[in-house]
Amino acid sequence: MDSETQKLRIFFLPYHTAGHMIPMVDEARVFAMHDVDVTIILTPANASLFQENIDRDVLAGHRIRIHSIPFPSAEVGLPQGIESLNTITSMEMAGQLYNSLQLLRNPIEQLLHDQRPDCIVADMFFPWTLDVANQLRIPRLAFRGTSYFSLCGEYCVRVHEPHKSANSDVVSLTGFPHKIEMLISQLPDWCKTTTRFTAMMDVMRESEEKSYGVLMNSFHELENDYEEYFKTTMGLKAWSIGPVSLWVNRNVSDKVGRFNIEGRDGHEVIDWLNSKGHNSVLYVSFGGITKLPATQLKEIAYGLEASGHSFIWVVRKRKEDEYDEIFPEGFEERMKESKRGFIIKGWAPQVLILDHPATGGMVSHCGWNSILESLNEGLPLITWPLFAEQFFNEKFLTDVVRIGVPGGVKEWREWGQEGTSLVKREEVEKAVKLLMGGGEEAEDIRKRVGRLKDEAKKAVEIGGSSYANLMDLINELKSLKMIKNVE
Ligand code: UDP
Repeated sequence: MDSETQKLRIFFLPYHTAGHMIPMVDEARVFAMHDVDVTIILTPANASLFQENIDRDVLAGHRIRIHSIPFPSAEVGLPQGIESLNTITSMEMAGQLYNSLQLLRNPIEQLLHDQRPDCIVADMFFPWTLDVANQLRIPRLAFRGTSYFSLCGEYCVRVHEPHKSANSDVVSLTGFPHKIEMLISQLPDWCKTTTRFTAMMDVMRESEEKSYGVLMNSFHELENDYEEYFKTTMGLKAWSIGPVSLWVNRNVSDKVGRFNIEGRDGHEVIDWLNSKGHNSVLYVSFGGITKLPATQLKEIAYGLEASGHSFIWVVRKRKEDEYDEIFPEGFEERMKESKRGFIIKGWAPQVLILDHPATGGMVSHCGWNSILESLNEGLPLITWPLFAEQFFNEKFLTDVVRIGVPGGVKEWREWGQEGTSLVKREEVEKAVKLLMGGGEEAEDIRKRVGRLKDEAKKAVEIGGSSYANLMDLINELKSLKMIKNVE
């Protein structure tokens, strides 16, 4: 076979939300950097948010492209251009978006049959790609955009059901390498009981277990105990090839261009950061799809103001007029005049902000991408988990790698629900003062996260653990292709 025929062709299929699309597109770009011919399947509005970065990769000589599939807006009743959980303006639209995935199945299946790639990397939300892969006799790799720790945590609760035999409101995660205790109220409903999502999660899990393996945006030095647990106790084959954001987003254009929903160049916030001292600013963000209730946002505002520290706060509401209810009287004006706080209503250039030397910490909802992006810059965190697997991620940060200070959230909620518990302004103030105050505890945390930052960098360099895993995987996939070709 000549080298062109030998070239590995991989198709990537991300799910329609930034927290899944961003890391999978980054992953696809990493493969393209290493001589793999890459196609990413997206719909037009989402495609446009990555095109700039992909164009730059093509100019650099990489074989990468986006294949855009028409989005069935009219069929599901969504306005033109609304194609992700990040741009919907009501919860009803989330259901419509989910329905669109069913309609996209046929054209995507057809595309894969026509194009006959050597491998499919698909998000957990597309379990049926396993059938296509089997029909084409190619491997399907499942993409999981979260930590090993959280997947092990979910498994542990499902299998051992510690909440059923607990005689208090606290449970221990049975058989874990570290002693981990959680409130029963912090465990996701879908692991504890049967919910409307249980059947869907079972299908996803089953397709993952039957897939060739799982691609993980993590690195060995960060999660080695849980990587081991995942592979041995849970019995899944996995490759840690992260942090992918660190690997591909190396310059300002990459950092600004990535999923820039509002098309801002970020200069205002960077100018503001330029006027601040080293490590003096706290970046506060609850991810791309969280909407906190006004009562909670007010407590955060009071707490941030009382802390006396500078901050950037990304506040997201679905509708313009909802912003009026959030802030205490005169808060926005005071923050602007004193230059103490920079408020971003909408979408922030997150990796650009985290990369700035003035940024010294982050308040995060514990989405795995935000955690890694913060760790890549050596920033300690205040943890504020809300839904999905975020409470497991919090425990990993506070009790395993010890680079986070708990924000004090006690109750897991379903995505889109407001929940009933409230973190009070005094608790916010205390956590911010601890993290940003420069005391001994904060300095120890900063040292630990600084070491992880260095290890993350090494992992993605030639000879590093993620680099080696990627090379092993590419070679393995090439061998499978050769075997298939001679059969
Ligand atoms: N993000 C961003 N600007 C925002 C909010 C989010 O760039 O204002 C990016 C963030 O950098 C991360 C992703 O969106 O890469 C969110 O993923 P994460 O896993 O942190 O949270 P999710 O949105 O999935 O809850």
